[in-house]
Amino acid sequence: MLQGKTAVVTGSTSGIGLAIVRAYAEKGANVVINGFGNADEIEYKRKGIEEEFAVKALFSPADMSAPAQIAQMIAEAERAFGSVDILVNNAGVQHVEPIEHFPIQKWDAIIAINLSSAFHAIRAAAPGMKTRQWGRIINTASAHATIASPFKSAYVAAKHGVAGLTKTAALEFARDHITVNAIAPGYVWTPLVEHQIPETMAARNMTREQVIHDVLLEAQPTKEFVTSEQVAALAVFLASEDAQSITGAILAMDGGWTAH
Ligand code: NAD
Repeated sequence: MLQGKTAVVTGSTSGIGLAIVRAYAEKGANVVINGFGNADEIEYKRKGIEEEFAVKALFSPADMSAPAQIAQMIAEAERAFGSVDILVNNAGVQHVEPIEHFPIQKWDAIIAINLSSAFHAIRAAAPGMKTRQWGRIINTASAHATIASPFKSAYVAAKHGVAGLTKTAALEFARDHITVNAIAPGYVWTPLVEHQIPETMAARNMTREQVIHDVLLEAQPTKEFVTSEQVAALAVFLASEDAQSITGAILAMDGGWTAH
């Protein structure tokens, strides 16, 4: 289905991004993996994708808080594969703390990685997509793109920003067969969620079990975590020809959280 296409997925060394990059490779796309982590483990995953799915996989260590590195990642992908057809802006970080104690550098990093990086990547990839008159841009937003939770000021602000950027880019590229959408997952069990448990325990004075059941799963009527594979399946559909008329949408996948 995606043979001959190239997909760049930011923040794909782990969690949701890794599931998306694997799902695109399974459909035949060449992929660019990006993110941080242990070099040997990343190389193992990269090689594994090439061998399992008979596609080409590149790794870019570009830091999503550095605009020049983002532009370079897109240029390198275009040089290596001839195009960037699918761009998934997925890299993200979290920090949980009350506003009056929220470290300023954490605010700046979350806005840069979770929001501004999507702008820089879209800015770099759009000219090639326009020339080819085809493109798919998918932003991993969050339920926090439409609703808020306390103690996540930077994350909620960044994800609301991603929703606005998604809609604006969709309008700008509407006549170029480039769709721009956001997936808004509820809680997905990944390192990002695991890492916020101690911070949430401190911010809310709760035990680990209370955080999992009374904060995380409390939000989701299904009482189940969303899976990375479910998010990846939606990302595959959004990259398909059948999804041509879906653009500017913020698609919830949150077990009913935002139906409250
Ligand atoms: P994760 O921690 O497993 O993955 C985050 C990825 O981003 C990793 O590959 C990491 O190396 C990369 N990354 C972090 N900082 C980076 C930087 N400066 N430059 C490049 N890469 C960087 O987390 P995840 O849960 O898979 O999160 C992926 C996306 O999904 C994020 O945007 C997150 O906000 C969003 N999301 C997650 C959930 C959830 O419950 N896990 C829910 C909604 C939205």
